[in-house]
Amino acid sequence: MQPDRAASHQLLCACITPSLPEARLALASLPWFQEWEDRVGGRCGFTRTGFFRLVDPGKEDLLRQNVERLRSIGVNTELISGDNLKRMAPDTNIEDVEAVAYEPDSGYADGHSTANAFMDAARRGGATIHQGMTVTGFQVHGDTIQGVETDAGIFSAPIVISTAGPWSGPLLRRIGIDLPLVPSRHQIMILERPPSLAHEHVYISPGSLYFRPDSAGLTLVGYGAGEDGVDPDTYRDAVDADHQIEGAMRMAHRIPAMQQAGMRRGYAGCYTVTPDGKMIVDQAPGIEGLYLGTGFSGTGFKISPAIGIALAELATQGEATTVDVAAFRATRFDEGRMLRANYEYLDRPYDPVPTAGGSSLHADTAWDR
Ligand SMILES: Cc1cc2nc3c(=O)[nH]c(=O)nc-3n(C[C@H](O)[C@H](O)[C@H](O)COP(=O)(O)OP(=O)(O)OC[C@H]3O[C@@H](n4cnc5c(N)ncnc54)[C@H](O)[C@@H]3O)c2cc1C
Repeated sequence: MQPDRAASHQLLCACITPSLPEARLALASLPWFQEWEDRVGGRCGFTRTGFFRLVDPGKEDLLRQNVERLRSIGVNTELISGDNLKRMAPDTNIEDVEAVAYEPDSGYADGHSTANAFMDAARRGGATIHQGMTVTGFQVHGDTIQGVETDAGIFSAPIVISTAGPWSGPLLRRIGIDLPLVPSRHQIMILERPPSLAHEHVYISPGSLYFRPDSAGLTLVGYGAGEDGVDPDTYRDAVDADHQIEGAMRMAHRIPAMQQAGMRRGYAGCYTVTPDGKMIVDQAPGIEGLYLGTGFSGTGFKISPAIGIALAELATQGEATTVDVAAFRATRFDEGRMLRANYEYLDRPYDPVPTAGGSSLHADTAWDR
């Protein structure tokens, strides 16, 4: 196990997503990042930059409808023209951009600081945290959880919350829970901006390109589908040379001045994906007292405050009341009812691909309320 490998990456904090259940989680989480010191204590490194969501030509209507729906639930977002984007970020190539969703309050934060601040707050609240210990199994009696088995002994507990990231699938299979969780490797490039370039915003752009500024004149860039099915203990954590070249080209298309960017060492991290690219937040099927938060499909950081609350509410009240997480139930894959937003852009690697012939990936709009 490689703790915290996945923590050193992009970590965009934005509400922009076509899926309302996910947007609600992001919306509930954003104030935590914004008011971190008061709410949690310590620092999370939240940097407000504003966020641009660009889509492929021809998808402006989807963007417009999503912006309206997001605004209807309280997200501070608006549709702006390509020309307005150019005014706000003059180095952007807008030749293929007609409309952009702009979210002024969003930005990015730091994974290590966030996790450490959460742990410190938990300790102050009375929690005991054991690190450097591996959970090797669950103790289940009948249909009830009784604790966890670790390499340092058994811990009895009437409630267990399992958030094992890419290790979740094999761990849960040990007690007969077989969920479609696939560990996937994703690469992040680090580019040195030319000194004249003041890149200040976070972007998601067609070609599943996403990038954000970092300190010291650096820009972090990710794109494309990951390498699915890797072993989270042994995957290659450096960036592949061909990936780097392709990424630099995509970046230079969107921000032409980045043609002059220098290359720094990048890195790869691993996260879990599900077939519909949406998380599982639920009681474990058939096991009383065991709760799951997994399969976040590359979006788990920005919603982590709300997910923590939802899992605590599920475990203590039987229902998440702060934000409804019913859409993310574990059984939806077996039921053949995968989660889809009403207006998907279908330009992210894990967006569902509609197939002909009435597959289960057809829109289940009842869930996207
Ligand atoms: C390259 C990259 C870019 C990303 N960008 C973003 C982004 O921009 N925005 C965003 O919101 N999200 C992003 N993510 C996704 C985000 O990092 C994950 O969704 C999030 O980390 C999931 O949190 P988690 O706690 O569920 O799992 P993890 O962060 O994977 O943590 C799981 C933890 O469980 C521990 N563990 C596992 N098994 C055991 C065991 N048997 N015993 C004891 N401990 C165990 C591991 O050591 C680890 O510390 C990105 C991920 C990557 C890799």
